Amino acid sequence: MPTINPGFSTLAVHAGAQPDPATGARATPIYQTTSFVFNDADHAAALFGLQEFGNIYTRIMNPTQAVLEERVAALEGGTAALAVASGHAAQMLAFHTIMQPGDNFVAARRLYGGSINQFGHAFKNFDWHVRWADTAEPASFEAQIDERTRAIFIESLANPGGTFVDMAAIADVARRHAIPLIVDNTMASPYLLRPLEHGADIVIHSLTKFLGGHGNSMGGILVDGGTFDWSKSGNYPTLSLPRPEYGGLVLHETFGNIAFAIAARVLGLRDLGPAISPFNAFMILTGIETLPLRMQRHCDNALAVAQWLKNHPQVDWVRYAGLEDDPNHALQQRYSPKGAGAVFTFGIKGGYEAGKSFVEGLQLFSHLANIGDTRSLVIHPASTTHRQLTEEQQSAAGAGPDVVRLSIGIEDPADIIADLDQALARG
Ligand SMILES: *Cc1c(COP(=O)(O)O)cnc(C)c1O
Repeated sequence: MPTINPGFSTLAVHAGAQPDPATGARATPIYQTTSFVFNDADHAAALFGLQEFGNIYTRIMNPTQAVLEERVAALEGGTAALAVASGHAAQMLAFHTIMQPGDNFVAARRLYGGSINQFGHAFKNFDWHVRWADTAEPASFEAQIDERTRAIFIESLANPGGTFVDMAAIADVARRHAIPLIVDNTMASPYLLRPLEHGADIVIHSLTKFLGGHGNSMGGILVDGGTFDWSKSGNYPTLSLPRPEYGGLVLHETFGNIAFAIAARVLGLRDLGPAISPFNAFMILTGIETLPLRMQRHCDNALAVAQWLKNHPQVDWVRYAGLEDDPNHALQQRYSPKGAGAVFTFGIKGGYEAGKSFVEGLQLFSHLANIGDTRSLVIHPASTTHRQLTEEQQSAAGAGPDVVRLSIGIEDPADIIADLDQALARG
């Protein structure tokens, strides 16, 4: 990319990509191959020993995936990235890189329902322990930290409620305790908000959502901010102690500000295996080219819909940070002035049953468990995504019985509103 200091939209189209050196192909090819031929035996040995970077086997690295990684790292302002099979795989590998059995981390209580499950249940089998904190109270994160705490985890814009958090205040807590702040930036996308500019050390995405953007491909990514000093204490032995599988190499010494991304690839992804397919990497790359256009349209449509819902007699309340009288509006203005995202919740009069029948009456909206599609989507969290949680956990996660979650698409706003209007009129 010849441009000096390219802007966000230029990066979204070009970062990481160049015409294919072998064929001149302008779009990034789908390198649909499992493995790559070595130049000679010494080349093979150097690749396996990490003395040289290069493609070996698509479980570990693939050229289509590499373009995706460079592009997202550029959009987030990170030093390196690792793309994997799903957002959940990205979370698993992030924690696998920094946690030992018996360690804990502090997570915001307002999270994607799947993350609450992953942290609270699946991670227990690794003897990794989550401690929950009140998303709106930075001090409550600090209160949970002890000598075995290895990270703080938050969502920049919390799913499903669509609320912004005071990231800089939480980053201060992490810095005081010399632990990294990991931010799931799925709901905001780097177009709205770049967590590394507000003190985060690692950014995670479900690429399945706004970055891919078309509801057709699963993917996840971790972005290394390059900011965290892994050497300071013995708390991160994966990064700071010699690795027997690489001849005693100390990852943070050899790889500096990309050590976290390298470790997640050559230890986590290599051994646990959740690789992204080259085809999905290609689909997501194509989606990212229009991220700035789509995201602005998502935000503009969502604001129009939220304003309309607020005045509807069947609607009890609307929580959208883009509304001027929303309690979260000041944080939105500070962290994400271009818009408040596409996902928000409202309370329907009539509670659980009304929520279910409203969802069934919609025609343009699709009833499904996803967000960040070009299409408008709806779900009733209490009967679906947050069903496994107790009613208390549901309410704490912003998913009580009357809550309907919308992910507003990029269709004509008048058509989106007309569909909501006819479904509400049935109730
Ligand atoms: C969907 C989602 C995830 C999980 O990502 P998958 O790609 O579904 O594994 C994590 N965090 C947030 C905020 C999400 O919306």
